[in-house]
Amino acid sequence: MKLAFFDAKPYDKPSFDRYAQQKGIKVKYFETKLNEDTVDLANGYDGVCVFVNDTVNAAVIDRLWEMKVGIVALRCAGFNNVDMKHAHGKVHVVRVPAYSPYAVAEHTMALLLTSIRRIHKAYIRTKDFNFSLSGLTGFDLHGKTVGVIGTGRIGRVFVDICRGFGMKVLAYDRYPAPITDEAVRYVPLEELFAESDIISLHCPLTEDTHHIIDAAALEKCKRGVVILNTSRGALVDAEALLFAIKSRKVGAACLDVYEEESDLFFEDNSGHILEDDTLARLISMPNVIVTSHQAFLTEEALENIAETTVQNIVDLTENGQCANELCYRCGDTKDCKTERCF
Ligand code: NAD
Repeated sequence: MKLAFFDAKPYDKPSFDRYAQQKGIKVKYFETKLNEDTVDLANGYDGVCVFVNDTVNAAVIDRLWEMKVGIVALRCAGFNNVDMKHAHGKVHVVRVPAYSPYAVAEHTMALLLTSIRRIHKAYIRTKDFNFSLSGLTGFDLHGKTVGVIGTGRIGRVFVDICRGFGMKVLAYDRYPAPITDEAVRYVPLEELFAESDIISLHCPLTEDTHHIIDAAALEKCKRGVVILNTSRGALVDAEALLFAIKSRKVGAACLDVYEEESDLFFEDNSGHILEDDTLARLISMPNVIVTSHQAFLTEEALENIAETTVQNIVDLTENGQCANELCYRCGDTKDCKTERCF
């Protein structure tokens, strides 16, 4: 089994080398992202391994099919970059549904605490022996209301963390989970917008959730609301967010993902002029923190990603089926057998 590994970073290699070697998979690492221009690099391989900003659109899928590359192994949970309908019958698409929900949920809380306690400002001040506290006043999380959109694996861990801080939770999910905690309530989206002091996004990017935070949604929010997005950039209309920050409607924003991130994030662009004015203006704001799609990046997550991805490929090649194969209809696992699928 030969695997073409796109958008490879130094931190990917140790764990993938170890697990792939154990299972006899030969991996060729390409630094470039997979897209229509680079897909021919996969010629002669049995599968491609891709990450969040690789492009697996209809043209790429057709070319993979022509070259008899039968597997697209996503080394992530989200699959909004794959044209699932087009993939059906041409390539098997497998993913890593859960590698460490703690990594992403904990990063979300790290961003929130950094922002509201002004740690990012304090760190720079004390490095310069500036011990002034002016402008560093924060607020307690205890007793505040957090609105969590998407209560899957990551959303539920984030809810637990918030409960540990004594926060009330308003949740919204297309498929609500059973809850016993009195401080957690599923509510309609409108109520979540109106009542939350902090809103955190943990749903996938789909047609339904694209720009779920737009100008109209922000208009319904409390003045001073804190927006957290560690899920997918296009859940938030970045220009509407910028406008709401300038008008003081939004009190702070923490973004690990950004709608137009694919050409910027994960790379060192420090020597370049940033062409994206919206991102540049957001980053310039004192109450905005941007991290570069870093939420997943823990040792535990990298180990789990490599182990599951390699096992997915072994399951497909040796058994012809894999529990983590995506269903093109519902986007869940292929054998999901839920009523939404069959
Ligand atoms: P999950 O599938 O376990 O949970 C997603 C939840 O969203 C489910 O409960 C689902 O019912 C709900 N949902 C689906 N459509 C919805 C809609 N229209 N409105 C409201 N809720 C809806 O996924 P997860 O493992 O918790 O991951 C959540 C997201 O986090 C992923 O889709 C991915 O985009 C993102 N993610 C980001 C990073 C990062 O490094 N920043 C890492 C991993 C995952």
